[in-house]
Amino acid sequence: MNKPSATPSELARETLIKLASHKMPPTPGNYARIYAEISGIPIADQAGAEKILHRLAEHLGHDPKAASQSAALQKGIETENWELCFKELQKLLTQTSDSEPAMPWANLIRDLLRQLETTHKGITLARKKDGVETVLKRFSANPETLFDKLNGLMRSWAESPVATATAEVETKPAEVAAIPVASPAAAMAVAPTATGNIVSQLSEALAQALESLFSALPELAAEAPPLVQQVRNIQTPEQMSALNKQLRHFWIRVELHAGDKIKIHDGLIRLLRLLVENIGEMVEDEEWLHGQIAILQEIIASPIDRRSIADAERGLRDAIIKQGLLKQSLIEAKSTLRSLMTTFIDRLGEITVSTGDYHQKIEGYSKKISKSKNIADLSHLLEDIMQDTRTIQTNALRSHEELVNTRKQVQESEAKIRQLEQELSQVSELVREDQLTGALNRRGLDAAFEHDAGQADRTQSQLCVSLLDIDNFKRLNDTQGHHAGDLALVHLSAVIKEALRPSDSVARYGGEEFVILLPDTSLEEATATIERLQRELTKQFFLHENERILITFSAGVAQRAPQEPQEEVIGRADKAMYQAKHTGKNRVVTAK
Ligand code: GH3
Ligand code: MG
Ligand code: MG
Repeated sequence: MNKPSATPSELARETLIKLASHKMPPTPGNYARIYAEISGIPIADQAGAEKILHRLAEHLGHDPKAASQSAALQKGIETENWELCFKELQKLLTQTSDSEPAMPWANLIRDLLRQLETTHKGITLARKKDGVETVLKRFSANPETLFDKLNGLMRSWAESPVATATAEVETKPAEVAAIPVASPAAAMAVAPTATGNIVSQLSEALAQALESLFSALPELAAEAPPLVQQVRNIQTPEQMSALNKQLRHFWIRVELHAGDKIKIHDGLIRLLRLLVENIGEMVEDEEWLHGQIAILQEIIASPIDRRSIADAERGLRDAIIKQGLLKQSLIEAKSTLRSLMTTFIDRLGEITVSTGDYHQKIEGYSKKISKSKNIADLSHLLEDIMQDTRTIQTNALRSHEELVNTRKQVQESEAKIRQLEQELSQVSELVREDQLTGALNRRGLDAAFEHDAGQADRTQSQLCVSLLDIDNFKRLNDTQGHHAGDLALVHLSAVIKEALRPSDSVARYGGEEFVILLPDTSLEEATATIERLQRELTKQFFLHENERILITFSAGVAQRAPQEPQEEVIGRADKAMYQAKHTGKNRVVTAK
C-alpha cells in the first residue's frame, strides 16, 4: 500500500483506523510499522535504535553463555517492552564488568617498560627479557595468571637494589632461563611477597583455629600458647612443613581427648535418657529413685570416665528390668487380694441373706404351726422346714469352707506382697553388683573399700588389695566367641568367690579385670591366697561345649599403707600386675 500522494495527516488518520480495525495496541512501534506500510516509507529509517537493538540481540545469540539474555532482549524488542530491554542491557553491562575485573594492563605495561629500563643489581636486561618471554610462553593462555606472574616477575627485579649501569653483571644464559617459575620453589622466589602473604594469612587462620580448639579442650590448654605462637611465627612454606609433624602429633592427641569426650558425653546422655524415660515406670519408691540420683551425682562429681558410665548404665538397666517384673507381680498380688476380699464379703453377705431368710421363714413356719389344724398340714410344713434348713445348712457350710479358704489365700497373698516389697528394696542394692558375674561393681567396690579401709585404720590391721587381669582373654573371645568369654568371666568370678574368705570382697574392675580386697591379711598371706587361686583354676577348668579351657591370670598384690586412698593402692597393684604381664603372664607380683 503505497500512498506517497497522501498528506501526513491523512496518513496518520488511516494508520489509526487500521490500528483500530486490526485491534492492534496503539504502541509507537505498531504505529510506525502501519505508517510505513501505508506511506511506503521504509521502517529502517524510522526505527534505527530498534534495529540496532535487534542486531545486538542477534550478536549476543552467537555466544552460548549469553543465549538467554539474547532471547530476553529479542522478546523485549518484539513486545516493545523497553523497560525489559533496558534491564537486560544493564545486566549485560554489569556481568561484563564482573567477569572481567578491571585489570590495569596499561599500568602493568607501563611499569614493565620502566622496570626493563631500570638497572637492577645482578639482573641484566637480557635476563629480564628472557624472564618476560618465559612467563609469556607459559601463562599467555590465562590472562589473569599472566597478569599476576608478570607483576611477580617485576617485583622480583625490584627486590634487587637499583644499580648504576657500570655495576651491571652479566649472568650465564643457562641460569637465565631457569629463573621464572621453573619449579614451585622458583615460583615462590619470583613472587616472594605474594606467597609470604598467603603463608602468613594461612598461619594466622590456623593459629585462630587452634586457639578456639584449645578453649574447647582445657586439658590441652597448657600446650596452647607456645604452639599458637610457633604457628603465628610461620613466614615461609618451609617453616610450615617443618611444623607439620608437630601439628599432626598434636592433632592425634586432640582426637584422643575429643573422642573420649564424645563417648563420655554420649554415655551420659544415654544414662540420663534411661533415667528420665523410666522414672514413670519405677515403683513409687522414693528411696530407690534417690539411690539412682545419688549414683548419677557421684558420676558427675568424680572425674568422668567411660567405664563408670558403662557400669552405671548396666546397673540401671538391670534394676529397671527387675523393678518392672516386681512391679507386675506386685500389681497381680494386690489384685488377687482385692478379689479375695470381695469374695469374702460376698460370702458373708450370702450367709446373712440366707440366714435372714431362714429366720423370716422360721417365723412364718411358727405362725403356720400355731395355726395348723391337722397332722397332714404339719407334716407338709415340717417337710418345708426341713428343706429350708437343709438349704441353709449347705449354704452355711459352703460359706464356712469358702471363708476359711479365702482367709488362707488372703494371708498367702499378704505374705507374697511383703516378700515382693522386700525384694524391691533389695533391687537398689543390686546396683552395687556386676550383673554378669555377681561380683561387686565399681560402686560396690567403693563401698567395700571404704568399709574395709575404715576398719583397718581403726583397728590398725592390714588390708591388702589385688588386681588381676585374665591372660590372653581377647584370644579366648576370638576363638570361642564373646558368649564363651562372658561365661569364662562368670566361671572365674565363681572360683574366686569360693576360694576366698567371706570377709574378702571381689569386684569386677573392668572388662576382664578383678579387684580383690583382703582385710586383716598380710602381704605374704595375700600373695599366697592369690597364688592359691591360680592353682584352683588349674583344677576347676572352665568347660565350654565339652572343651576344657584353662583360664590363667596375671596379678599384682599391694598392701595398703595407713590412710592410703583406694586409687593409689589399686594403682600400685596395677603396676605390679603389669610387671607380671611383662615377665611372662600367669604370675603374681607383689607391689613395693
Ligand atoms: P593380656 O594377656 O595382655 O591381658 O591380653 P588380653 O587379650 O587379655 O587383653 P586385652 O586388654 O587386649 O583384651 C581384653 C579383652 O577382653 C578385650 C575385650 O574384648 C574383652 N572383654 C572385655 N570385657 C568383656 C566382657 O564383658 N565379655 C567378654 N566376652 N569379653 C570382654
Ligand atoms: Mg585387660
Ligand atoms: Mg587381659
